[in-house]
Amino acid sequence: MYLDRSYSLMRKKRVLICGAGAAGLTAAIFSAENGADVTILERTDKAGKKILMSGGTRCNVLPVVMKYDDYHTSSSTNRMRNIFKSWSLEECIHWFKEDIGLEMDCEVETNKWFPKSNSAKEVRNLLVKKALSVGVKIIYNCALQRLEKRGQIWRVHSSDDRFFDGDAIIMATGGLSVPTIGTDGMGHKALKLIGINHTLLYAALTPLTTNDSALTSLSGISLNVEIDVYIDNKKYTTATRNGFLFTHRGFSGPSILDISHLAVTQLDQNKPLPEFRVNWNGMSREEWDRILQSEKGLVRNIVAKELPARLADLLCKRANISEKYCHELKKEKRKKLLTLLTQFPLPVSGHEGYKKAEVTGGGIPLESVDTSSLELTSLPGIYLCGEILDLFGRIGGFNFYWAWVTGRLAGLKSSISDE
Ligand SMILES: Cc1cc2nc3c(=O)[nH]c(=O)nc-3n(C[C@H](O)[C@H](O)[C@H](O)COP(=O)(O)OP(=O)(O)OC[C@H]3O[C@@H](n4cnc5c(N)ncnc54)[C@H](O)[C@@H]3O)c2cc1C
Repeated sequence: MYLDRSYSLMRKKRVLICGAGAAGLTAAIFSAENGADVTILERTDKAGKKILMSGGTRCNVLPVVMKYDDYHTSSSTNRMRNIFKSWSLEECIHWFKEDIGLEMDCEVETNKWFPKSNSAKEVRNLLVKKALSVGVKIIYNCALQRLEKRGQIWRVHSSDDRFFDGDAIIMATGGLSVPTIGTDGMGHKALKLIGINHTLLYAALTPLTTNDSALTSLSGISLNVEIDVYIDNKKYTTATRNGFLFTHRGFSGPSILDISHLAVTQLDQNKPLPEFRVNWNGMSREEWDRILQSEKGLVRNIVAKELPARLADLLCKRANISEKYCHELKKEKRKKLLTLLTQFPLPVSGHEGYKKAEVTGGGIPLESVDTSSLELTSLPGIYLCGEILDLFGRIGGFNFYWAWVTGRLAGLKSSISDE
């Protein structure tokens, strides 16, 4: 209590936040609630454009359970853990429900939290409302171009030749994904100009493409699959029983998006694409074999009992099986079909890049910040939060959780007065 009053007697700390996305809005709320005079500079005409498009406009606010291996970073995983420990999932859920006033429902089948209203707009609007209610000012159509240290203060120069002075700056400019809505890496560039380098950046959670027209003709079919990923003939990882979607250009759905960065990074380094081998319904080769050897019907019908009919047709065609009864299947053809059912070599030709990527892989290494405050160790007064940092999560609310956690930490710590 005594501390709080003594803060209010001091000059308010001026905190400038670049970017009014998920992380920037959260940082603004915590910073202003902690007594700072907060202004957000947002390059577009709206706050939280990515929140609006998230989760198919339903906004998957948070995951129900989180494990550290749901995240990818080339930085120290201990640093990542320290940052996450600053705010538990339960505390974050509580904040949304009690402080932000968002009613949420947990979707049991997918382990995801969504707003009860299924409206991403509600999430964005409540965050903006909360920020404004605690005194945050938002200046729209104002793009950070360059940062300059002037004595004790930091100056933000905008692209239209304005400048803004702050005692602390929070960089919440996001990554490079979906550049058409304002995120094109300008924040990374501004940091580079003052000596803060980022790791290799790459599109992540992006759909994969194919030149196989028979597969793109299955566009719209979705199912739960398992995908083994091989790099240099060695099994690298398995994406287990998760949504897979045929699109008119290739493949998408959580199972593909979660492993897409492996294709992106291989191609970016001029290396061969990984091999993606799909098991179409998670049944083992032995289980399928038992079915094919014991059933009496047409092969195609037996396969179509377990898989979408059009996919069953395609797999039978590729195994050169035409109108055959199971008992007529020669061993060689049965073996070929078993491989196509459980280890289908997905003919990936490329990816959709940043245009469709949900996030950016890589960023400012976690080694560059003090993990208890997210302040740059080499440039005190500058704090980082959200996607600009070297970390991304898989599909399921994990990326927003990172944005909320880091936004809160940067907001709280940037507002503490040094006086
Ligand atoms: C289609 C789509 C769906 C998604 N769905 C989900 C989901 O359901 N759940 C989930 O957890 N994650 C989801 N994500 C990922 C999630 O949106 C991001 O992880 C999250 O938005 C990152 O927050 P951020 O605040 O760091 O960056 P952003 O939300 O990208 O915000 C950055 C802000 O900075 C502004 N900006 C950029 N440059 C400048 C500059 N130079 N000056 C001033 N302002 C600048 C931008 O305009 C933007 O407002 C989705 C992403 C996409 C693209």
